[in-house]
Amino acid sequence: MIPKTIIEKQLTVLSASLAPIKAKVFIWAEQNIFLKWGVLSRSKFYCLECAHIWKPSCPNTCNKFTTCPACAGKLKMMPYNQVHFKETEYFAVIERCVGFQVVRLVIVYKHMKKNFTPTYFHKEVMQHWINAKGEVRTFALSTNVFSSTLDSWKFYSPLEIKPKDFIRNAKYYINPFKVYPQMKVLPILKRNGFKTSVYDIAPHLLFASLLSDPIAETLLKSRQLNILQYYLCASRQCIKLNWQAVKTVIRNKYKVSDVQIWEDYLELLRYFKKDLSYTLYVCPDNLQDAHDHFVKKKRELLRKKKLQDLRLEIEKAQKRYASDKKRFFGLLFTEKDLSISVIENVRDFMQEGDDLGHCVFTNEYYGRKDSLILSAKIDEKSVETIEISLSKMEILQCRGLKNKPSKHHSQIMRLLSENLYQIRERMKKRKAITASR
Ligand SMILES: [Zn+2]
Repeated sequence: MIPKTIIEKQLTVLSASLAPIKAKVFIWAEQNIFLKWGVLSRSKFYCLECAHIWKPSCPNTCNKFTTCPACAGKLKMMPYNQVHFKETEYFAVIERCVGFQVVRLVIVYKHMKKNFTPTYFHKEVMQHWINAKGEVRTFALSTNVFSSTLDSWKFYSPLEIKPKDFIRNAKYYINPFKVYPQMKVLPILKRNGFKTSVYDIAPHLLFASLLSDPIAETLLKSRQLNILQYYLCASRQCIKLNWQAVKTVIRNKYKVSDVQIWEDYLELLRYFKKDLSYTLYVCPDNLQDAHDHFVKKKRELLRKKKLQDLRLEIEKAQKRYASDKKRFFGLLFTEKDLSISVIENVRDFMQEGDDLGHCVFTNEYYGRKDSLILSAKIDEKSVETIEISLSKMEILQCRGLKNKPSKHHSQIMRLLSENLYQIRERMKKRKAITASR
């Protein structure tokens, strides 16, 4: 992008004036940002660090690490054997330049091959320029636009200033593996709490936040590093909303072991209308236990509410059901220990459905205008449920446990058929009453 505004032109001049990164910094990176590797090939160990080869006493060893007898390097073993090995890492150099905080990002490739010492390639790929207000402008090399990975830099392209919102693109968010320890930072950053560590937060993000956001400054100064990291890096966080509770944490020098769980826990406290400035709630001795306690409590409450809703629904349905089917109530056909009676309560539909494992309640058979539902019982225990069509005066279905017929099925069907006339009579009676009105 061609610099257009005054600030873009100024930054472009300043960026060009920065001294190249010194060779000693690259040497530090080579020694500090990579693992040392070894590989097992044809029962020999190859140190990819110093090119030493040796025959192990026990070649079938599957240890993850081994120590090179020549360079004494603690080697991580490559899980596979091949000709070339490559590792890629980023590191940052922190400088300042005329009132700007500068974060320079360098990509390093480490190429390894059996029988050779490793070779390295370094390239500065990005610069963040942060002013005293915490505003960030970024320079970067061009990248292969079709690639979603960050390592697709075009190394022949120059460092160019990028649009203002460039840094919001997650594709260009780089958190370097390490920061070169000799840092030069703006005095205002020191005043706002920065010492020497970036606490695994991308340096440009930490610096910009410390210069523009009092929350970040407060969290750093009070050493609430877990919360600071979560606040700046978590994709979903509610630290601002929970600020009152955070203040309680700071006041008590409490360490939140898992900020995500803690925020979930605060949500539960809020649900139960607990006081979020109350230390006992906000700073529990055992966060996980406290969290689980309220999860259980909420689950029980929801279950109770559901039951309450169901009870109300049943009461309502009962009124309708009674006015529809009252004339059949009291009908009872018996033979030895078998009894068949009309189900009179919606609650009994639920019981019947639960006992026999069918859907007479869930599918609201009590609401069917043309159906009369009866229950056949042996010694007071439901064995089958019967649906009769009132208009056709016939048995529509007669089902036992899990919709299968019981061993009393034929007896039930016979007793029913013999007594259908009683149901018919009750219908006639109703018609006669209606006619006489
Ligand atoms: Zn070695």
